[in-house]
This record gives sequence, C-alpha cells and structure tokens, in this order.
Amino acid sequence: MKYISTRGEMPKISFKDTVFEGLAPDGGLIVPEKVPKLSEKEIEELRKLNYQELALKIFKYYVSDIEEKDLKEIIEKAYKTFRVKDITPVVKVGDIYILELFHGPTWAFKDIALQFLGVLFEKLLLETNKKINILGATSGDTGSAAIYGVRGKKNIAIFILHPYKKVSEVQALMMTTVTDPNVYNIAIEGTFDDCQAIVKSLFMDLEFKRKYRLTTVNSINWARIMAQMVYYFWAYFRVSEKEKCESIRISVPTGNFGDIFAGYLTKIMLGEKRIERLILATNENDILCRFVNNGDYSVRKVKPTISPSMDIQVASNFERYIYYFYHEDAKKTKEIMEKFAKEKAIKFSEEEVKRVQKDFLSASVNEEETLETIKEFYKETGYILDPHTAVGVKAGLKFKDKYPLICLATAHPAKFPETVSKALGFSIKLPEEIEKLYKLPQKFEILPKDVEKVKAFISEKAI
Ligand SMILES: *Cc1c(COP(=O)(O)O)cnc(C)c1O
Repeated sequence: MKYISTRGEMPKISFKDTVFEGLAPDGGLIVPEKVPKLSEKEIEELRKLNYQELALKIFKYYVSDIEEKDLKEIIEKAYKTFRVKDITPVVKVGDIYILELFHGPTWAFKDIALQFLGVLFEKLLLETNKKINILGATSGDTGSAAIYGVRGKKNIAIFILHPYKKVSEVQALMMTTVTDPNVYNIAIEGTFDDCQAIVKSLFMDLEFKRKYRLTTVNSINWARIMAQMVYYFWAYFRVSEKEKCESIRISVPTGNFGDIFAGYLTKIMLGEKRIERLILATNENDILCRFVNNGDYSVRKVKPTISPSMDIQVASNFERYIYYFYHEDAKKTKEIMEKFAKEKAIKFSEEEVKRVQKDFLSASVNEEETLETIKEFYKETGYILDPHTAVGVKAGLKFKDKYPLICLATAHPAKFPETVSKALGFSIKLPEEIEKLYKLPQKFEILPKDVEKVKAFISEKAI
C-alpha cells in the first residue's frame, strides 16, 4: 500500500514514510491510495480474533513495508501496558453498549494510538539510526498520552509544554510524575495559548526545527488513525454477535474528527450496512454538528467547556473526509480547503447534506445536558460517565431506535473528578493507580513565556 496526499501533489510514499510526517508537502493530509472493501469471508475471519490479532490483520491491509513478525511484535509490546486483557472491552449498560477506551496508562482513548505510535517510532528510528525530539503543547488532557507513548524509548526525547498551575492536579501529576530521562515537562508561566504560540514559533524556525529534528505527534498522523480503526471492528463484532444482528450505530464524542474518521474508514471497509450510521457528538463547539445538520461548516470562537478535549473549531482531520466525500477528487479537495483557509467557512448544498447524512447523524450537547446525563445515567445504571463520554451518550440516545447503540467512552471519569463529582453530588473514588500519583516524585521545569528561554532549554537537552 502506498500513500498519497488529499491535495494530489505529493509523489506516492510508503507507510514508513508517513509515520514521521504531519502534513503532506502540498499542504494536504496523507491518506492510503485505496481503502479496501472487505469480503464477507474476510470479515468473518476477523471476527474470531483477539484484539492484537485483529490489529495485525487490519494493519496488514495498510502496511506493506514492515515484516509481519515485526509488526506483530510492535503490536504486542504496544498493548502490554493496558490493564485489561481485551484492551477495549465492550460492556452492556442499561440498553446501550459502552466501548471502554480508557484502560491504557493515561486513562483516555489517545493511549490506544499513542502507545502503538511510540513503539513504532522506536523500532523505525533504531533501524535507521536516527533520533527525534518531539515537541508539543497541552491544555492538560492529551500531553500525558504522548509522554507515556515514548517514555523510556530509545532515540526519542519529548518536550511537552503546559500552562503552569492552569491544568488540573490529576492531569499535571500524570505528566510530571514521569521521571524518565528522555521526558521533559515544561511548565510555562502563562496560558495554554502562550504554550501553543511558543511551540508554533519553534516549528516555524526551520533551522531550529531541522537541527533538532523536531517532530509532532498530533492527531493528523496516519498511523494514529489506523490504530483507532481496530476498536471499531472489535466493537462491531462483539455487539453484532450479542444482538444477533447485522447493523449497529456508533456514537463518537468528536473534536478533531480523528476518532470518528477512523470509524468512517471502518464503515467503508465493512460495507455500508454494518455500521448503519455514525453519530457525531459535539459539545457547544458545534462546527461539525452544524456541518452534518445544515451544511454549515463555518468557524466561530472556541468556547471552553467541561469536555475540554473536544473544544475545537477547526477539525484537523476534516480534510480527509472531504477527500472521500468528493470521491477521492484531490483537485476539488484542494480548491475547497484553500477557499476555507481564506473565508473560514464552507457552505454545502442541500443535496450534499443529504449525502453526508447517509453516513452521519449529529447532535450538539451543552454543559447542562452533559452534567444531567452523568447524573441520570448513574441513577439509572450505576455507571459513571466522564464528561466527554456523556456528550456521546446523550447524542446517541437522541437517535436511539431499532439499531443497537455503541457509545465510545473516551476517558475514565477519574480524569475529570471535579466535573463528575459536581454532576453526581458526591466525590468519586479515584482508582488506586491515580491515588498513588500524589505520592510520587515529580520532574518539571518552570519557564517564563519566552520563546528564547524555551529554545535554550531544548537546545541544551535535545538528543
Ligand atoms: C481527544 C479526545 C476526544 C476527541 O477526539 P478527536 O479524535 O479529536 O475527535 C474526545 N474525548 C477525549 C477524552 C479526548 O481526549
């Protein structure tokens, strides 16, 4: 399998070459040349596999330049850090299914992709004797997943900026208690926007970027999308078996359109009917919901909410969907995305909206509804939802009909204890592993919001 750009102006590259790439050089996103549609027989064979075996089979459709035994080893190693045998168990709660994606080291779904990416990075870097320095900024939730992905890995150092004292205690501890020598937590005396601005300006400094081989692990990375497809297959098999049915629906709390794009590709691979529709759930940052319901993809101001990992306006993976939506027409994709960059809005026709709605349903869920859902769901079932998962559950229930409903649980409630406790009216009990973090030694550097100071720090520590 070769890879191409959604804007059509990049020569074909191999899977290995996609692993360290963010954007394609023509400004597009990297996609596989072809998304295979599986036969009935192929699908039934996948059904019998355990999580790691399933991952191997799916990856093999997309990876032709890594030997099977190596790929197998990478997968095994990546998922050893998970606390449960099934990696992403599906549990029936009330009359819906919850796909629990939070059993990795940082208790949220990004571990599924980043644990894999970290092992893959190390393997490929050792093969070519190269080194990289990963740089990123976090508002709290996602930095830890990147750190845990690469902690202790050879030929990799990671620098993660977070706003000092402006992330929740649990989230800060999840990062700063990682004391591996290749991990650098930088607490910036400023806001998350300051952190992002510093990271951006370091990446724009091409000489600095080249000299230290700066790399990102953001959500447009193809290998991350690929790793996320596995649990859609997994959940489809578990629930269709239990319900003895062919078609199901899946509700996905969405921010950057990464997770749900993996679901969309799975829908294509499984044939149109099996995943009847994906339910795109947003919080009050509802650009994607407006797109599905009215064809209005126009940027508004980001509103901070209690589901912060979905506080996104411009969804970085949206271009990939546009590409497939226009039947892999790179010229059209380029035109539309360039227009969007200028006008900050795309308006889709009624006919186009109808076509979108063949694959997606969508609802936006506000903060009040999110808190209410956490409370009511607990009252009815005894199951505690995190705020992101609650957005997905609420949206899913709005469309509940004859199709079995799977809701993706993207984080464990203990990652957002303040919000969840507020909704429930009592303090939730933290898992022992998280309690323990409070007693561990920490390692972080406090720096002013000054690009030059950060630059000097990285220059000193980079590998
Ligand atoms: C990142 C994240 C999301 C959104 O995922 P996207 O791939 O950006 O759509 C939802 N919930 C949690 C807890 C997350 O960390």
